[in-house]
Amino acid sequence: MKTFPGDLTPFTIPSSSRPLSAGVERLDNAGTPEKPSDAPSVAPPTVDDIPVALRETPDPAPRPRANVALLAGSLTVLGLMALAAGGYVALQMQRSQTATLATESPTPTTQTPTTAPSASPSADTLLGHFAYTEAPQSELAPIVPDGSIKMRKAAAKAFRDMTAAAQREGVSLVPISGFRSLADQKYLYFDVKADRNQDAEERAKVSAPPGYSEHHTGYAVDIGDGNTPALNLNPDFDKTAAYRWLKANANRYSFELSFPKGNRQGVSYEPWHWRYAGDIQSLKTFYKARGQK
Ligand SMILES: [Zn+2]
Repeated sequence: MKTFPGDLTPFTIPSSSRPLSAGVERLDNAGTPEKPSDAPSVAPPTVDDIPVALRETPDPAPRPRANVALLAGSLTVLGLMALAAGGYVALQMQRSQTATLATESPTPTTQTPTTAPSASPSADTLLGHFAYTEAPQSELAPIVPDGSIKMRKAAAKAFRDMTAAAQREGVSLVPISGFRSLADQKYLYFDVKADRNQDAEERAKVSAPPGYSEHHTGYAVDIGDGNTPALNLNPDFDKTAAYRWLKANANRYSFELSFPKGNRQGVSYEPWHWRYAGDIQSLKTFYKARGQK
């Protein structure tokens, strides 16, 4: 499996020329350099989703290897800032050209969106991912105060209840990404694939092709640990208090892990990616079309 050196590159202080995506970079990239040395020698196929995309794409210049002291200092400061400014950052991301979180684009894409999950007797799959239709904006509700991250209403309520319960036990569940449009995913999949010289199959292990992401449904959410932002969107997220809490409690709120280790879809292990399956619509979305029980 291929690793992407870019992912392990210490991030630098965001340049003022692109503060928006830099914020994302900070949030999601912060931890990677601290990856423990006891990490599996076969590096897990790198982590998905937004962070990588935003981290790499906007900055064509090679990242300097900052000296360790500076890096550590930056991490600390920026980590704190990340906590405080998470909402702000998310808002900025939404405004950013490269933003991929919860963009509002209603999106006429060339993609013919797939079969309606509940209507298809046989699963439409592509590179191990199932087809999903985009949730209508009218069905979405915010899960962060600034409204930049959204989920389907039922899922959003369950998510808010869940994070509140975790908070009462001192655990900080932080949403990183919720609903994504087809346009968001198109960017994540194709642009990042090209940027990293990945072929379609490699890319599909860490990011679904547009039209095939659970994030389109509005039921999926990527969750980070507010106390350990360094491990956001990292397989080692499963060593955080947030993950342990989720493992013990998420089912109570109808959230389940979409891509556990060894999942049959062949998608990389994503301990941060949870989906809501707590009403009939979500159940149909995730189960009915797949011939699963
Ligand atoms: Zn995800």
